[in-house]
Amino acid sequence: MSLRGRLTLLYTSLVGGILLLFDFVVYVAVSFTLIGQIDDVLQRTALDVISSTHVNSVGMLNMILLPKMDLPADVYVQLWGADGRLSTFSPNASQLDTPFDPDGLSLHTSILRDSYVQGAHLRVLTIPLKLPGGNRHVSTLQVATKLAVVDSTQQILTIILMLGTIISIFVTSLAAWFSVKQALAPLQDVTQVALQITRADDLSRRIPSHSYPGDEIGKLINAFNQTLGRLENLFHSQRRFMADVGHELRTPLTVIKGNVDLMRRMDEVDDESLCSIESEVERLTRLVGDLLLLAQAESGKIPLAQQVVEMDTLVLEVMSQMRVLARDRLTLRLGEIDQVLVCGDRDRLKQVLVNLIGNAVKYTPAGGDVVVGLGKVGQKARITVSDNGPGIPADDLPHIFERFYRAEKARTRSRDGKGFGLGLSIAYWIVRHHDGRIEVDSVDGRGTTFAVWLPLTDKGCS
Ligand code: ADP
Repeated sequence: MSLRGRLTLLYTSLVGGILLLFDFVVYVAVSFTLIGQIDDVLQRTALDVISSTHVNSVGMLNMILLPKMDLPADVYVQLWGADGRLSTFSPNASQLDTPFDPDGLSLHTSILRDSYVQGAHLRVLTIPLKLPGGNRHVSTLQVATKLAVVDSTQQILTIILMLGTIISIFVTSLAAWFSVKQALAPLQDVTQVALQITRADDLSRRIPSHSYPGDEIGKLINAFNQTLGRLENLFHSQRRFMADVGHELRTPLTVIKGNVDLMRRMDEVDDESLCSIESEVERLTRLVGDLLLLAQAESGKIPLAQQVVEMDTLVLEVMSQMRVLARDRLTLRLGEIDQVLVCGDRDRLKQVLVNLIGNAVKYTPAGGDVVVGLGKVGQKARITVSDNGPGIPADDLPHIFERFYRAEKARTRSRDGKGFGLGLSIAYWIVRHHDGRIEVDSVDGRGTTFAVWLPLTDKGCS
C-alpha cells in the first residue's frame, strides 16, 4: 500500500476509534441519567404508597385503597398478598392481572429491574412489605412505568451518533487523502530532480530548497544537497587524482623512452642517457612508494610500530640530515627544544619531520631562515617548523594537505624536480594515525609555520 494510503488509513482509524469511544460514553451517560430519573420517580411513588399503610387490630397490614391515592399518571402500582393474590392496584393498571415483574416478585427483596409484560418494556421497583418490628412478610409492592420514551430516546441518539460518526469518518478520510497528497508533493519533486541528476550524470545540479525553507522537507533537501556536494567533491578529486598520476607517470616515461631511442639510434650506450634514465626510474619508484604509502594511510591499513620515541633525538637527527640540503644557501637552526617522549612509529614520525623541514628548506629562498622547535603544551608535544619563505596564498591553504596539491598553480614539477605534491598528505595521515593533528599558519610573502601536535607519554606504550 502507498504511503498516502497508509497515512489516510491511519488518520481515519484514529478519528473513527475516538468517535466510537465518544459515542459509547454519550450513550451510556444519557441512558444512566434517564433511567436514574425514572428510578427516582418509582422510589418516591413507592414511599408514598408505603407511608399510607397501617397495621390493623389483628396485626395485619392495612393499606388505603390505591384508587383513592393521587399517583403520577404514567406510574402503575400493584400490591400482591403473601398468598400470591393481587390485593389492590392503581386504576391505570386495571387490565393487568399478572405481576409487572414476575421474577422480581419471587425474589422477596427490594429490587429495580427491567421487564417485558404484554409487549411493553417496563421499569419495575419491587419492595417486599413486612410488619413493623417483625420479619413476617405480608405482601409485595410493585411500582412500574413504561420505558417507551427512554427506548425511543436511545434509538434516536444511536442514529444521530452513528450518522455523525460515519459522516466524520468520511470527511476525515477525504481530508487526509488530499492533505497527505499535498504534504507528499515536495517529495515527488525531490524524486524527480534526483532521477534527472542520475539520468544526466550531472552531480553539479542541486534540488531547489527555497520553496520549503526551514521545514522538514527543506531540511531533507539540504541534507541531500550536502551529500551531492560531497559526492561531487569526491568525484572531482578522484578524476584529478587519475589525471595527476597520469601526468606524473608520463613525464619520466617520456624521458626514459627518449633516451632509449637516442641510444638505439646512436647504437651505443650513452652515459648521460643512462644517468637520466636512472634518475627518472628513481623518481618513478619514489612516486609509486609515496602512492602506496598514501593509499595505506588513507585506508587506515598502514603498519605502525608502537614504541617510545625520543622526539628531541629524532629532531636532531633529521636536522643534521637536512643541513646537507640547506648547505650555505640558508640558515637551518634549532629554536627551543625540550625532552619529549611520544608513542609511535619512529620511521614514520621521521618521515613527517623530513617532509616538513624538507619543504621549508626547499621553498625558502637563499639567505632565508628555517627554525625548528620542540616543546610541551599541556599533555601534548608540539613540533614547529617555521620559515620566512614565500608563504602559502590564503586560497591554497585549505588544500595543501590534499594529494598532488601544489600551491604554485602551474602543475609542473616543482623547482628541484622532486616534489609530487604528496609530502604534506603523507605527513597529515601519519600524524592522524598517531592521534595527533597538523596545523599550518602562513602569511603570503612573509613565511610559513607548520605545527605538529602529538600526545605525550611518560610511561611505555601499550
Ligand atoms: P611538494 O612535493 O610539492 O612539496 P607537498 O605536499 O610537500 O608537495 O606540499 C604541497 C604544497 O604546499 C607545495 O607544493 C608548496 O606549494 C606548499 N608548501 C609546502 N610547504 C611550504 C613552505 N614551507 N613554504 C611555502 N610553500 C609550501
